Amino acid sequence: MSAATYDAAPVLIVGAGPTGLAAAMSLARAHIPVRLIDKAREPAPHSRAIGIQARTLELFEQHRIVEPFLQRGHRARAANLHSSGQRIARLDFDPLQTRYPYLLFLDQSVTERLLTEHLSSLGVEVERGVELTDFFQGVDGLEATLQHADGRVETLQPSWLIGADGAHSTVRHRLGLSFAGKTFSQTFLLADLALDVDWPDDELNMFASGEGLAALFPMGGGIYRLIADQHANVVALVQSHLAAQGALVRTSSSATSSSANPMSDEPIAASDDAVAKGAATAAADAPTLEQCRELVARRIHHPMRLTSLVWSAYFHLNSRMVEQLRTRRVFLAGDAGHVHSPAGAQGMNTGIQEAFNLGWKLARVMKGEAPERLLDTYHAERHPIERDVLRQTAFVTHMAEAERGPLKLLREKVMPLLAQFGPLRDAARTRVSELSIQYRRSPLTLERVLDGGPRAGERAPDALVHVVDGPLGRAPGVGCVFDLHDPAYFSLFLLVEADGELEASPEHPIPPAVSNGANGAANGSASREAELTRFVAAVERALPGAVRVWRITDAGGDHTTSLADTYGRTRPAFYLVRPDGYICARGRTASDLTGLLRHCESWFSKGMLTEETSARV
Ligand SMILES: Cc1cc2nc3c(=O)[nH]c(=O)nc-3n(C[C@H](O)[C@H](O)[C@H](O)COP(=O)(O)OP(=O)(O)OC[C@H]3O[C@@H](n4cnc5c(N)ncnc54)[C@H](O)[C@@H]3O)c2cc1C
Repeated sequence: MSAATYDAAPVLIVGAGPTGLAAAMSLARAHIPVRLIDKAREPAPHSRAIGIQARTLELFEQHRIVEPFLQRGHRARAANLHSSGQRIARLDFDPLQTRYPYLLFLDQSVTERLLTEHLSSLGVEVERGVELTDFFQGVDGLEATLQHADGRVETLQPSWLIGADGAHSTVRHRLGLSFAGKTFSQTFLLADLALDVDWPDDELNMFASGEGLAALFPMGGGIYRLIADQHANVVALVQSHLAAQGALVRTSSSATSSSANPMSDEPIAASDDAVAKGAATAAADAPTLEQCRELVARRIHHPMRLTSLVWSAYFHLNSRMVEQLRTRRVFLAGDAGHVHSPAGAQGMNTGIQEAFNLGWKLARVMKGEAPERLLDTYHAERHPIERDVLRQTAFVTHMAEAERGPLKLLREKVMPLLAQFGPLRDAARTRVSELSIQYRRSPLTLERVLDGGPRAGERAPDALVHVVDGPLGRAPGVGCVFDLHDPAYFSLFLLVEADGELEASPEHPIPPAVSNGANGAANGSASREAELTRFVAAVERALPGAVRVWRITDAGGDHTTSLADTYGRTRPAFYLVRPDGYICARGRTASDLTGLLRHCESWFSKGMLTEETSARV
């Protein structure tokens, strides 16, 4: 671990799946010592999540790790929904206002490897074969018991604990939290297959029918992931039918198949015992290539040839979540806190984004730079988002597989009409890509009305800017907001006029002398300069060592990249961006300094009121 900037027990992160890895990355970047343990001796070889959403890619970009993902992943630029042999809806990702207008398909095992390698470059190694077996939370701290693969038992007193230990979380069980929700009655089939088909391999296709849902996701190189739901009786029927024909074959040795179910290989809660056991019986055999062929022939009305099976499994779906993500010194993140249908490819993405949300807050509190209540905003901000994801993925799954009734009507008659309506398509696109995630109602959000631009609480979008001045005098000329923002710091973006421009604003009417002569203009710009200098000094005092200030102006670009189109036209204006890439405050430098300082002092720093605030109160 790179040197900690202070003396503290490490944060114990349980689980080195995507969530635990992202949490460790976020803390390590802020020089917080962590221990990241995983009970598995080896990383999981199989892929579960394959879809990485645009917002996750944007965050990877800010962590300077996106390139290897882009090099290895396969891009899908559109999604098609078919019903009864007809395409009823299409969603193009192209119009998304991001550098990543697609869904990137990449094996989860590769995603985990890339995150692990990056973490290693930050000085953190995953401790494998180490299981959290128990922990105790007293008034003053924590005591955790770890079982090492060599039989050694270790106890340690971490300062904080993050349970990123997946759907069957030991941490959640030990906290005694319920995992409320439901288990879907269907068994789902998953198969990674080589197939020959004549449709574009940069689109994903979903097929709804009375019999159930089937989806084919392109993973590149002619490999597709097939996911389909199967009622338990269908699985049994197909198997007995094939067995009668002597065709019930287990996958060949060149391929792997498994009945291990990542989401319910054991009961999730005591009350689910019966469901889980029943489901496990139905899923005793992994799907074979022959079964996949049968299924495709029945549900996907398009010629294709399935040539080989790479990996297959049956799995069951749960739609469940905890009621609280924080219990004093313990946090739950990722599947430990919520599991849901993979419809929409949200699970891994939300886990990673949760970890980034928590990481910077914990780092500030641990360094003594922010009040502990900042940590409560982790639950306040993320829980409503997870609840929405649960609702939507459950709804989509139910609708896609409805055999009759209003949901079938909605799918077959209403959806095609709605899908032609531009604003609805836009909303669906930004939602699926997770670009619409926002914390506008969070207590961490301070909003002031400006002439355009994203509101406080929303993601800080990328834009092309001309840098007038930066930290330590860095002014790289033309750059991008994403390149300037460093997730170990807050970024304060001051949007100023380009040299020579002087616009009137209510706070700074252009003095009459300006239009008459250079002196007036010089006086106006000197007064603005003094105001900006005061503004920057005050914010730097409120967030000592934690904020990087960039003075930026327009640098051209089209309507998707220009600063004016992306961040609005008010000048001078400020945007304060949190380390996790969301805007926590915005306003006018002339009138909103006091409010901003109070906000920082309430949430992001621990000092008394600064002189600046006191003087202005
Ligand atoms: C078929 C399928 C398809 C999916 N597709 C997508 C998709 O396309 N996009 C998407 O975003 N999501 C998808 N998901 C969901 C996604 O796989 C999960 O949301 C994601 O893996 C959750 O990551 P996690 O780190 O929270 O938990 P996990 O990946 O489950 O990792 C938990 C880790 O904790 C370790 N652990 C458990 N208990 C302990 C303990 N006591 N001590 C130490 N270590 C422990 C485990 O060994 C494991 O490595 C899919 C899921 C399934 C089943």
